[in-house]
Amino acid sequence: MRFSIKQTGCGGERIGYLTGFIRSPGAEIETPTAALFTQGGSVVNLTAEVLSKVFSNTKLLWLPLSNSINLETGVKAQNDGVAKFAGLQGHVTCATLHSLSEDTPSGHFELDRAPLWTKNGKRMVSADRYMDVMEIFKPDIILAIADGRTSLNEGSKRISKAVCRSNSMLKTCVNRYMSSKELQKSSLIGVVVGAGNPKKCDESLRNILTHVDNLTGISLQGILDGPEESRDIDSETLKKLFEKVGEALPKDFVYILEGNWNPSIILTAVEHGWDLFDGSYPLKLTNTGVAMKLNFDVTKENDTLYLLDMVDERYKADLKPILEGCECLACKKHTRAYIRHLLNTREMLASVLLSIHNLHHFDQMFYHARQHIASNTFAVFKQHITKQCEMVKDFPPNRYKGSNGTNIPTENQAPNIKRRNL
Ligand SMILES: [Zn+2]
Repeated sequence: MRFSIKQTGCGGERIGYLTGFIRSPGAEIETPTAALFTQGGSVVNLTAEVLSKVFSNTKLLWLPLSNSINLETGVKAQNDGVAKFAGLQGHVTCATLHSLSEDTPSGHFELDRAPLWTKNGKRMVSADRYMDVMEIFKPDIILAIADGRTSLNEGSKRISKAVCRSNSMLKTCVNRYMSSKELQKSSLIGVVVGAGNPKKCDESLRNILTHVDNLTGISLQGILDGPEESRDIDSETLKKLFEKVGEALPKDFVYILEGNWNPSIILTAVEHGWDLFDGSYPLKLTNTGVAMKLNFDVTKENDTLYLLDMVDERYKADLKPILEGCECLACKKHTRAYIRHLLNTREMLASVLLSIHNLHHFDQMFYHARQHIASNTFAVFKQHITKQCEMVKDFPPNRYKGSNGTNIPTENQAPNIKRRNL
């Protein structure tokens, strides 16, 4: 895989292209962009056929091993890689150990093995075993196995071990990569860890630099130990971290940010040169019955919330689409009232329709971001989106889970989101 930068903006933001995929010749992904999150090899809530109607172009599929390791026997028997096995050939795959948006028990690491939390329990995975699975899954992009689930407030002893272990596992991944023709058809991504301790983070960055010839990019971990924490991190802390990592590593690397970050944080990362995101954010919204409706028109002031709580009573007889003017399949055919009904009666179609809209809309956010980078107006766009995010103070959407709170925000009202079950 090649990454070429087409244009840079006034800040660190840039438009790039991922091309030259050995297993998907002709595929081209324009960045910045988000992947589509998969489970069991498929895009969550969408069949391959529906996916082809939602997106006509090649997409990047995010493939956590934690929810796909059970495919191993079948993928090995077919011997054509996980994308073909799941009927998604033509799309590009990026495999990783687990998703930072999953809640998992902390710790359980051993000297040279990491825990893989699957629905059937814990499996301990060494770097060699991880690369064995990569040889079978044949993803286009491989994130190296790492101990990246430490928060910014983590104790220095834990961070120290995480960095040491990740450095050692990266060495094994690189050695395996260099000695396997099959693995060399993929691109290897190094994982930066230990963000909570500047000295240890520097050590992680220096280690990445020793493998620079075999890496195509980096992913930044070591910020979160689970999805709940992302709402507590302020953007200034993240900005400094994005700058530090960007200054230490080659500019022509692909920069990947994992985690369930809101649009404001995502665009802050884009502003600092980040290129790829894992796509867990729209999935999180869908899972909590929430639809996204950002206003992308920077010439229009926006005084409504960008999140719609679709199970709310107020949409019972609302015959408008989720978002007027939206070109997605859900908005073209279905009303808010119907989607609310499906959600309240626990129909599977509710998640399908919400996914179609949220994935389309999230993709549109990146489309507009690229347009503004090309026009050197990205700062205006970022400020416009950030203002909308600031209207929802109590975020991310996992706040929606919990008790049956009644004070759910309206479209036109400042939010006071309470927890509730969906
Ligand atoms: Zn829509």
